[in-house]
Amino acid sequence: MTTNISTITIRLPDDSTRELPSGSTGFDLAMSIGKRLGQAAVATVVNGIETDLGVSLVDGAKVSIITADSDAGRHVLRHSTAHVLAQAVVQLFVGAKFSIGPAIEDGFYYDFELPNSTTFSDDDLAKIQQRMQEIVKADQPFVRSEMSARDALKLFSDQPYKCEIIERVTQGDADSSDAGEAGSADAVSVYRNTDDFVDLCRGPHVPSTSRLGHFALMKVAGAYWRGNEKGPMLQRIYGTAWESKAALAEHLHRLEEAEKRDHRRLAVEMDLLSFPQELGGGLAVWHPKGGIVRKLMEDYSRERHQNGGYKFVFTPHLANAHLFETSGHLQFYKDGMYPPMEMDNGTYYPKPMNCPMHCLIYRDRQRSYRELPLRLFELGTVYRYERAGTLHGLLRIRGFTQDDSHIFCTEEQMADEIASLLDFVLSVLRRFGFNDFDFKLSTRNLEKSVGSDEIWGKATEALTEALNRHGLKYTVSPGDAAFYGPKIDIDVRDAIGRKWQLSTIQCDFNLPERFGLEYIATDNARKRPIMLHRALFGSIERFFGVLLEHYGGAFPTWLAPIQVRVLAVASAHEQYALEVTETLSKLGYRVDQLVADEQLGKRIRASKLERIPYVLVVGDDDIAGATVGVNPRGGDVIRGVSLNDFIQQLAADVGQENNLQKHV
Ligand SMILES: [Zn+2]
Ligand SMILES: [Zn+2]
Repeated sequence: MTTNISTITIRLPDDSTRELPSGSTGFDLAMSIGKRLGQAAVATVVNGIETDLGVSLVDGAKVSIITADSDAGRHVLRHSTAHVLAQAVVQLFVGAKFSIGPAIEDGFYYDFELPNSTTFSDDDLAKIQQRMQEIVKADQPFVRSEMSARDALKLFSDQPYKCEIIERVTQGDADSSDAGEAGSADAVSVYRNTDDFVDLCRGPHVPSTSRLGHFALMKVAGAYWRGNEKGPMLQRIYGTAWESKAALAEHLHRLEEAEKRDHRRLAVEMDLLSFPQELGGGLAVWHPKGGIVRKLMEDYSRERHQNGGYKFVFTPHLANAHLFETSGHLQFYKDGMYPPMEMDNGTYYPKPMNCPMHCLIYRDRQRSYRELPLRLFELGTVYRYERAGTLHGLLRIRGFTQDDSHIFCTEEQMADEIASLLDFVLSVLRRFGFNDFDFKLSTRNLEKSVGSDEIWGKATEALTEALNRHGLKYTVSPGDAAFYGPKIDIDVRDAIGRKWQLSTIQCDFNLPERFGLEYIATDNARKRPIMLHRALFGSIERFFGVLLEHYGGAFPTWLAPIQVRVLAVASAHEQYALEVTETLSKLGYRVDQLVADEQLGKRIRASKLERIPYVLVVGDDDIAGATVGVNPRGGDVIRGVSLNDFIQQLAADVGQENNLQKHV
């Protein structure tokens, strides 16, 4: 028997095999499967390790192909584009130092230091982008080589940041970002292009710069070297890169849309709320129109909690330091708390969370198993210290109200309780127009956790079981749970595909222990209850901000601050307009009338800017026929609609389940 040494056998992800001439690369493999795959390929995974497409495959290797339009593929594209960015900057700015250039969500960045502390201008970005395109056109291969740390230090002798990374990697105290830059301690890997630009990197990259090109540089920002405020301030250039012209265009369009939907801008345009400077950073005041929406959200939440068997509680904004010592917040969460106040020989803190106070309510008297599950609910206002630089409208704020609930139950009740919680959360989120969810289950970190194996096992099983019962797809984040228990995080996707983390269902084995919570079980023994934390909106403020962006200000009719506006064509029709307004108002709708002191067209445009769901226009014919002209938001005008028909349409639009009209 002779073995054919000129062929190798490669195993594919579906466990099928393929024979190729020896010396074949990942690219050859992709081409042998199909030309289209060959063209889309940017890298491979060989025996579990991401590898350049041009590397020769070894016999028996298990290989999958990474294509440009996958997450992993885009990562390779973005990272490779970052190299080209550094290459362009080094060529255009003599003496520029470059540090690190990772791929990030939707794009990449690279950090630079320019000689004499100069900074990049917008014109510079255009110039750099131009040079990058030239490098792309030049079709320069990315050629990998490995060398000793000594040789690498010599090679980068004029690049202090690279030297620092090499030293950290070789001394074994590299963090994950360093390792991504330089490979391992035994062999430092570098990539070189035709222009003699060389960068420290583990790879992989696209085979050649011609595989890139669908990118845009976005902005420059200051960034401290290694995030250290005491270290040098570098210039960070951000960019985005995609697999095709269309994908890039789509992304840029999404950014434009996001800009238009920015809740801080809409809040001003629609007169909903503001952040007065005199009040201080991260604190908002709600104006009447924003107040209407907020009240509707809260009313709806209260009604659902009422029906869901929750007990309403109220707790103060301040607490003695002893409470936060018992709860552990002063030990674990002090950085997130407002500074203390001294009075009556005691120290008081604004509360960062409601949980400790709910534990006090539970502990006020002896509890029996008959009372469990005990579901406490509060719209509880909390204060958290967020650094000034991180504040962002309603999305990151210092004082906010949580729709907070804590459920105390027995171990046996936990699974059912979690399943019904999940139901509850999803049905409320759906009512607000979210239908696209991502679920993440965070499991135990063995290195830092309290509670027995048994209880962790049971709780994790209960969370998993709840997700499965609802047939929900979820991802597992192993070891990502807080030390006190596993949790489910629920993200929603908004109208333009952005992901927002809103709700959490969190098991807690720690607070019941710290507060010594107990109940008398059926056998008269004292037992510890399980505590579940559940935030649904997260915070009213943040949820409102997300809603505002999701709808681009065009709230669904049941939430709109003004649902209907009535406009008379001319002053002769004002009396009839008033009758229509009063009729609708008596039915409980939020309706107003804009008096005819300006031209009709102008009044219609102003009303559209306020994103009012229905603008009614009434003239001579309408008075005669008891009709209205209906100008729906985003639709065409329908003239001569009988007022009764419009009322029915309005009722249907607002929704049967919403009977909150009467409250506002
Ligand atoms: Zn690289
Ligand atoms: Zn809590």
